[in-house]
Amino acid sequence: MTPATAAEAQILALMTCPQQPETVPLSAALGRVLAAPVLSALDFPHWDNSAMDGYAVRHQDLAALPAILTVVEEIPAGRPPTCTIQPGEAARILTGSMMPDGADTVVMQELTQKDCDRITILEAPSPGAFVRRRASFHQAGAELLPAGVVLGAPDIAVLAAAQCAEVSVHRRLRVAILSTGDELVQPHEPLGPGQIVDSNQFALAALVQQAGAEPICLGIVPDDPIKLRQGIATAVAQADVVLSSGGVSVGDYDFIDQLLTDLGATLHIRSVAVKPGKPLTVATLAGSADRPPVLYFGLPGNPVSSLVSFWRFVQPALQKGSGRQAPWGPLFLPVASHPDLKAGGQRETYLWGQIQVTATGLTFSLAGGSHSSGNLINLSRTNALAVVPQGQTHIPAGKVAQVMVVGALANQID
Ligand code: AMP
Ligand code: MG
Repeated sequence: MTPATAAEAQILALMTCPQQPETVPLSAALGRVLAAPVLSALDFPHWDNSAMDGYAVRHQDLAALPAILTVVEEIPAGRPPTCTIQPGEAARILTGSMMPDGADTVVMQELTQKDCDRITILEAPSPGAFVRRRASFHQAGAELLPAGVVLGAPDIAVLAAAQCAEVSVHRRLRVAILSTGDELVQPHEPLGPGQIVDSNQFALAALVQQAGAEPICLGIVPDDPIKLRQGIATAVAQADVVLSSGGVSVGDYDFIDQLLTDLGATLHIRSVAVKPGKPLTVATLAGSADRPPVLYFGLPGNPVSSLVSFWRFVQPALQKGSGRQAPWGPLFLPVASHPDLKAGGQRETYLWGQIQVTATGLTFSLAGGSHSSGNLINLSRTNALAVVPQGQTHIPAGKVAQVMVVGALANQID
């Protein structure tokens, strides 16, 4: 059994990024990963402009107060000034408007009195006050965003402002998903005795999508070595990463490891010291000529185990493979647990539940009901899993545990 951190490091070392950038319009760039740094062709601000509604003046005209100046122009937003401010003159200016030549300071409207085309200035601000200087926020030619950024709404605002109508992003990773097992049926099919619905296909596809990759859902493959071999080969031919669930334990129908070996795969990991999710096969197979090796994850069939394995081991690999900047891997937060946390001690144990945001900070509470890896039902609304380290059997209530965050934090109204 490979310890969890060693397995994570090994998996990350095996994962490469396909390096096939594509250009997308900015409107389709949310969540995509920048493939190259973006430089701005523009200064920010683009020109000297006013930070206030007020009057653009020459500071030296304010040497003696009150100063009476003649307003020679009004400069609304979007209209360039036409005058050069001469001694004894001012321009009415609005927030964001271009500063006129000759003026160097803006006086707030509130510190002036207006009488027809004359203003009286009662107080002098410091020289250069309320002028946003050209390029004081960002200089043309300097890097605006580095490669590897996952584009969120603020980044998209920045790119739009820099007139980047298109961006170069990494191609989405293609992740093939297949479910193995004679007992599996699809959700719309009648459920016969002994059968079980293939929930893993849907859960894994959703997780792959959440990770910014493209799921290729290949459906259910029975526990038949010929069909399984065919299914694996089909998956490997079209994907960067393959996720199969089931068939990696030590049962008579667990064929995956043997078939991978037959297909020429290199097996790197056979099991990991985590609970749930001990059976985990990680292998690499040669892709087609111009592609890096395909990373294969044989996940356990148990629905909970399969999700935990994804969060702990697959997600970091997808983050790296999608071209994202390091660090990769789950977010672990130190959070006080509300109930006692108990574990067997032989393996690193993941207990699912929820982090809640309360008035006094974060707390972790365990999902109610059975913590059997076969119980999928109480996994619903899980946003975090508390970790009881290997060799430890108990974390008392109120003590801080490392908690792996897997979803949005919920506000608790109390
Ligand atoms: P296995 O790892 O193939 O031995 O499967 C372990 C358990 O997980 C068995 O009870 C299976 O019925 C169940 N299982 C396997 N694959 C799936 C799946 N795709 N969706 C839901 N449950 C599954
Ligand atoms: Mg099975």
